[in-house]
Amino acid sequence: MQKTVAWHSTAERVYHNDLQCRVGAAVPDEVRRDGTGGKKLCEDCARLAAKGASALLASPAPNP
Ligand SMILES: [Zn+2]
Repeated sequence: MQKTVAWHSTAERVYHNDLQCRVGAAVPDEVRRDGTGGKKLCEDCARLAAKGASALLASPAPNP
């Protein structure tokens, strides 16, 4: 099972943990660091996480 990844840019005040985050994906290698860096979670990553959670909740229940 893969662990949740976290990375951040030394040029940003947030960290990322979702590979679908465009902001996080655009962080250049030169300023990319592993871990949260003690920063706040990126808003886009938070939105993606919420979207994934709601998608799970919205999955159709089997008909009786
Ligand atoms: Zn992000």
